[in-house]
Amino acid sequence: MAVIEVVDPSTEEAFASVPDVGVPGAVRAVDAAAGASSVWADTPPRTRSVVLRRAYELMVERTESLAETIVRENGKPIAEARGEVAYAAEFFRWFSEEAVRMHGSVVEAPAGGGKQMVLLQPVGVSYLITPWNFPAAMLTRKIGPALAAGCTVVAKPAAQTPLTAVAIEAILHRALAEAGVPEAVVNLVTSSDAKGVTAAVLGDPRVRKLSFTGSTEVGRLLLAQAAERVLNCSMELGGNAPFLVFADADMDAAVAGAMVAKLRHNGETCTAANRFFVEAPVADEFAGRLAVAMAELPVGPGLDPATRLGPLIDAAGLAKVERLVRAGVDGGARVLTGGGRPAHLERGWFHEATVLTDVPPDSPLLAEEVFGPVASITPFEPGEDVVARANEVEHGLIAYVFTGDVGRGLAVAERLEAGMVGVNKGVVSDPAAPFGGVKQSGLGREGGHEGLLAYTEAKYIAVDW
Ligand code: NAP
Repeated sequence: MAVIEVVDPSTEEAFASVPDVGVPGAVRAVDAAAGASSVWADTPPRTRSVVLRRAYELMVERTESLAETIVRENGKPIAEARGEVAYAAEFFRWFSEEAVRMHGSVVEAPAGGGKQMVLLQPVGVSYLITPWNFPAAMLTRKIGPALAAGCTVVAKPAAQTPLTAVAIEAILHRALAEAGVPEAVVNLVTSSDAKGVTAAVLGDPRVRKLSFTGSTEVGRLLLAQAAERVLNCSMELGGNAPFLVFADADMDAAVAGAMVAKLRHNGETCTAANRFFVEAPVADEFAGRLAVAMAELPVGPGLDPATRLGPLIDAAGLAKVERLVRAGVDGGARVLTGGGRPAHLERGWFHEATVLTDVPPDSPLLAEEVFGPVASITPFEPGEDVVARANEVEHGLIAYVFTGDVGRGLAVAERLEAGMVGVNKGVVSDPAAPFGGVKQSGLGREGGHEGLLAYTEAKYIAVDW
């Protein structure tokens, strides 16, 4: 049987494997999801809610083993992995609460003579593709609303992190079985043949929805494929977040916010602050304090409880970060801390937490999503239109602004071209809030009530009443 070897990024060694089910496995998964589709759509919302609530409880109970699995296959520090499990489980709890709030409407037709009824119905079999950086949360953020809305799912996790997905599938199967509904509501496809599997699933007329989280590059390819069958699509794509610090900001809060916005999961997040713009009077102070805080972070394997910065996901991820840092330095940037691989670690795809200043404005370091622990700091002059500079890139997922004047913070937030803005906050993710981007960072929202609507179709029934 073909398998996918799962590699520990801190040792570069395979430590587990899962079946590589390939295209035949994908076809079986679609058959199963399509077979269970009408049963699940007809299952009372309250039962759907109970299943999700039970999945939430089981995830919380199994926090420690799930967190260890995340660390082994993904590399993030164990404390962050526990945080991810809690965050991921919350999507099941939130959508267990939303499952019973799929409200349509009945309104009087404006011209009179009848009523207009709108029903929200499940969109149908949904294909979910997730990345490796949040192996639990990216999956539950899709499965939670899909199940709440009455859709069955086929989920394809990233080939690098299938173990967490397998553990979550087992939790969902148990919750479904306890409620007396078919396990075929949730189907996992572990395969290294992402293209082949996806072509098979998207080509099947029983599949009605594609929800993808991953790079903008792959998102574009998938949108083109989905266009062939005019599929309902949700796209959570890459980011290149600006982080604005005004001179009146609380400097402790700005540095703390920068640490988390930059370094959560080793800098490998779509929400990672990539481009720091700091008002000139405080730019040196901010850069210096950020460099000191970053230099103090213990770097090592994620399972060591002292570790605050783990390895990057793979050799290619590390090579990309090294290339971008080199490009910055070659262009004249100054390294305040870090800059390369940590000397004390011989194995593993580690990179030091790095702070650079004087990065040339046209450097690839500012144009590309770094996906690593590298902060580039650029000063701006008081009165300069820093928002225009922040908006210069093709991405628009998230932006951060730190200022002592909340009025200014809100005015800047309104002008920033981003789906989300943190005002004096370095983390904004919350299952109860709509997460997503504008421009080339995506289409649609996950989380909040909007997350549920993404798995529904509105049906309008005109009634001669
Ligand atoms: P990726 O290369 O786009 O892969 C994401 C998923 O797509 C994986 O499951 C991958 O499968 C699959 N895939 C790759 N090529 C495919 C193809 N041609 N056809 C069908 N499926 C394909 O992204 P990644 O490197 O895993 O994740 C990092 C990216 O995700 C970053 O850009 C990050 O910003 C973005 N992201 C966005 C959000 C958000 O909410 N906006 C959240 C997290 C991450 P394999 O693993 O088998 O290749």
